Amino acid sequence: MIIKPKVRGFICVTAHPQGCAAHVQQQIDYVRSKGAVKGLPGRVLVIGASTGYGLASRIVPAFAGGSATLGVFFERAGEADRCGSAGWYNSAAFERAAHGAGLYARSINGDAYSDAVKQEVIAAIKADLGQVDAVVYSLASPRRAHPKTGAVHKSTLKPIGAAFTAKTVDTDRGLVSEVTLEAASEQEVADTVAVMGGEDWEMWMDALSAAGVLAPGAQTVAYSYIGPDLTWAIYRQGTIGRAKEDLESAAQRLTAKLAPTGGRALVSVNKALVTQASSAIPVVPLYISLLYKVMKGLGTHEGCIEQIYRLLAERLAPGVDPQLDGAGRVRLDDWEMREEVQGAVAKLWPEVATENLGALSDIKGYQEEFLRLFGFGLAGVDYEAESDPVVSMPSAAH
Ligand code: NAD
Repeated sequence: MIIKPKVRGFICVTAHPQGCAAHVQQQIDYVRSKGAVKGLPGRVLVIGASTGYGLASRIVPAFAGGSATLGVFFERAGEADRCGSAGWYNSAAFERAAHGAGLYARSINGDAYSDAVKQEVIAAIKADLGQVDAVVYSLASPRRAHPKTGAVHKSTLKPIGAAFTAKTVDTDRGLVSEVTLEAASEQEVADTVAVMGGEDWEMWMDALSAAGVLAPGAQTVAYSYIGPDLTWAIYRQGTIGRAKEDLESAAQRLTAKLAPTGGRALVSVNKALVTQASSAIPVVPLYISLLYKVMKGLGTHEGCIEQIYRLLAERLAPGVDPQLDGAGRVRLDDWEMREEVQGAVAKLWPEVATENLGALSDIKGYQEEFLRLFGFGLAGVDYEAESDPVVSMPSAAH
């Protein structure tokens, strides 16, 4: 079929197989252009490996370090008359490229929160790799079925304590308006922490450790966000921020468990970027559009792949100083949080409106990047040509 973007609010319900493959190839090309990084972990498990930061966290060790990667994600395969999800096509393309380069790459598609998928991953590690040297935890999900209680927790993106009114943008239509978000209930806070907090990360690490598949000295990293006061009410001081605090405290508990073998758990605070997860957060896409304008102007803009290359090459590689902040976190948001960047964004914020959105912000760049997440707008892809939505996952033959 001929596959075109169908944007519904903050998601695109179609995805283009060749476009997604081209997007993955661009990221591989970037990593190759930057060169190899010495001493990267040889066997890497990436949980949430199919899009955004997790996909980049699979591509960098593979193509800068020759690492074997095992990827876990929750995606939909295409059918004859229905597109698969972008993460499915990305992962199939990644595997093909990795196998083509002689690298081990296997993927497990299923609910990472479940005990069954954890056991499937452990069995795959035992069968193929013996152990893993690093675990990247990069899940972003709206819901979690708790494996022990059976309860289904849904995350919400709300302020805590009081309602919050702020500007937001409908990124599809380019309309700036005010949105009021009601304060979350205690239950909503608890549910968001259950989905996006640290409990599942700890369950993963405990299960891997109990099965003996963590190599001595194994490291693990999960991703967080802080951001400026403009977004604090909805992000850092909101329900999702509470979950991130929980994730950050899980890192300390995990480090205590891993330390006896020389391992550690770290949280990396990353930059705000257009991904499927971030586009669902009210207010944040307007902030990102302004941020992109300012950082591109200064020449300091990075996407997921640039961020994760910098993480592995300049923060986590053996022998480099991870430059932890006072709370023990890696700060890849250092360039975003620079005074010159935040000062410029804060100056634009009160001025931005529908009429001047194109001039003051990088809404065009936002929209293009959003479509690229689904494989649209990539150079060299013929979007008028017939495309088969059925794309096999090479490792599914295992
Ligand atoms: P994303 O939506 O691009 O990726 C989410 C990944 O999780 C996908 O691979 C998806 O398949 C997987 N996933 C979701 N539910 C799953 C389930 N039940 N089982 C298995 N896999 C599942 O998101 P992202 O923006 O790359 O976010 C990844 C992490 O980075 C999150 O912790 C997020 O908070 C953090 N982060 C994001 C930003 C940003 O601006 N995007 C900034 C800083 C930190």
